[in-house]
Amino acid sequence: MTPTEQIEAIAFDPDLSVTEKAERINGLLARAGSQGVPLAVECLKDVSDVGLAEYLTSFLELVPDSGADKARAAEGLRGSGAPAQAAARLVPWFPESLVDAFVRDYLGAADPQSPLTSVIFSLAVHHPDRVRPYADRIDLDIARAALLSGAPDELADALLARWREERDLDDLQALALIRTPRAAELIASVRDDVDDPEDWEWLMPLAGRLPDTGAGAGFGPALMGFVADKDVAPHVMGGDYAEDVPLCARCRRPAERLLSLSVAALPQDLSGDPSFFWFTCDCDEVDVLTVRFTPNGTHVYFSPQGPAAGAARLVPGGERSMVLEKQPNQVGVSIPAIPGRSQHQVGGLPRWPSPETHPICPECGNFMPFLTAVDSGPTLFGPMGFEGLLFGFWCDSCSVSTTRIQY
Ligand SMILES: [Zn+2]
Ligand SMILES: [Zn+2]
Repeated sequence: MTPTEQIEAIAFDPDLSVTEKAERINGLLARAGSQGVPLAVECLKDVSDVGLAEYLTSFLELVPDSGADKARAAEGLRGSGAPAQAAARLVPWFPESLVDAFVRDYLGAADPQSPLTSVIFSLAVHHPDRVRPYADRIDLDIARAALLSGAPDELADALLARWREERDLDDLQALALIRTPRAAELIASVRDDVDDPEDWEWLMPLAGRLPDTGAGAGFGPALMGFVADKDVAPHVMGGDYAEDVPLCARCRRPAERLLSLSVAALPQDLSGDPSFFWFTCDCDEVDVLTVRFTPNGTHVYFSPQGPAAGAARLVPGGERSMVLEKQPNQVGVSIPAIPGRSQHQVGGLPRWPSPETHPICPECGNFMPFLTAVDSGPTLFGPMGFEGLLFGFWCDSCSVSTTRIQY
């Protein structure tokens, strides 16, 4: 069988579940190494089955770079009928001309049942500025929510005016999700007007500023993260960790390293290499891990600490690395993340399933900026060893990391 026939055999095997099919197709294409992307692109030509198209673009979505190949595959899906919906996964790599072409395709037959509905939604998430001029012709609430990101100051002002009249917190949340300097300024201005001061403490970082210091709620440009083989990138996932790690307070099992970022290879201006950890047991004793990095080793707050066990449950297959690539939307995505179905992120502003206050650094007592989000969804090497979505925060002046989970 040719690789294409093998992929089709898996996709149409009645004895396999959707998850099994996705894992096998990802595995087959990943094992093809540098031939994986061209092979997936080749299979997408003349594809007539929606499921097969989705498996192939799901693979491409997990692979970094290769933007030109992905754009070519998406171009080929235009006008393919139902399989065109699979192009939604490739939107982060669309050049502007292709963004505009898909917007035109959608507007040509704007209809919630259109296979292009998922594409127009993804376009609104990643390229809100190019979709916004047509917002009136897109009858989708979820696309409208995505278009809050970077919305003009007039909308920010109007949301604040409506909140002053109706006092509906949803309007302030929508205002914060615009994530522009104007939106942050307006949220800052209602500090003493909100009914519950605790609401203001999550609204401010949602808009992009920390409530106490007024500093940015995130670090530098927003990057997409991709789980790659060991040593492909300097940012390490899983593997051995030389110093103490947090232990579960109940069963004493050591936490594992989720991610160590290498500052030398980041556009962010940080003074030390942050590491983030997570549990590998199911005790659910606490939902936060805080660690300080010092020249004399790690210091764990609020939990016992001990040597790492070198086990490899958290990241599939032991040690991997994280490849980073710039996100098209640098303002900050305004729709909630879905744990298990989100992209990994470094830098920018967090995309919360539901917004939360940021953690407080135990050293300096200030709110901590967001630095990374690692999702539990599929990788080219199989599923991650946790559920939900992990958020990593970093106090650069104290070299303290905090990792927290949302489901
Ligand atoms: Zn435990
Ligand atoms: Zn601090």
